[in-house]
Amino acid sequence: MVAQHLGAMPQTNPLVKSAVFDGNTITIQTNAKGKNCMEALKEAVNACVSVCRANSMVNCCEFCGSHDDLGIYSLAGRCTSICSTCFGKAQTDLSIAQQEIKETKSNVAAGIVGALLGSLIGVVLWVIVYQLGYIAGIVGFVMAICCMKGYEKFGGKLNLPGMIISLVIAVGMLYFAENISLALEIYNQFKAEFDITFFDAFQSIPQFMEESQISRAVFTDLAAGYLLMLVASTSSIVTTYQNANLKHEMKKIG
Ligand SMILES: [Zn+2]
Repeated sequence: MVAQHLGAMPQTNPLVKSAVFDGNTITIQTNAKGKNCMEALKEAVNACVSVCRANSMVNCCEFCGSHDDLGIYSLAGRCTSICSTCFGKAQTDLSIAQQEIKETKSNVAAGIVGALLGSLIGVVLWVIVYQLGYIAGIVGFVMAICCMKGYEKFGGKLNLPGMIISLVIAVGMLYFAENISLALEIYNQFKAEFDITFFDAFQSIPQFMEESQISRAVFTDLAAGYLLMLVASTSSIVTTYQNANLKHEMKKIG
């Protein structure tokens, strides 16, 4: 009955895009965008409320349908109308989940192995991009992510020490990748003229670095790589911390 009335709302009220009733909750979508959105939403909600009142409906808890002890609560950034019993249960569930995360043991040694394996993906990518003649710095972003993901997969969870270890590995491996790229460049340039191996080329890097043109190019590559690594890690540090520790706010609004 009410569902039918609500379903017909988009035809009678141009502001309402859809109104769906699932037994306990009504979900309303509006057509308005930007500045008018709040006004439209208010009107749409009022229109829906009138339909409900006209059909002698009452407020109830979103979770259990109870009519008693209702309140407006903020659950992890979502506003909802539930009873105090269900709110208590939601709080307990969250603290149990938080406790479980706290009790998950992280294995640092396995995490380091994971981060190193992840970093190899970054090293290979760096060398390839460098060989193709592009600025390899963009790989710095990937390198940081690969190390952190590797640590999380192998070490169980990515906590703050894990994040620091991953980033130290990422910084070291990026430097290593730049050196490999440089050695490959030297090897390819001189292998025809002189009878050298890739290892000889790698060992000759310090002599080539005395050349200001080469060292400047290397520092530019590394600077770009480390900058993007910083960008990648800042955003992941924030989201990882929030997700990993379930820092969700729960409180009563009204
Ligand atoms: Zn309830």
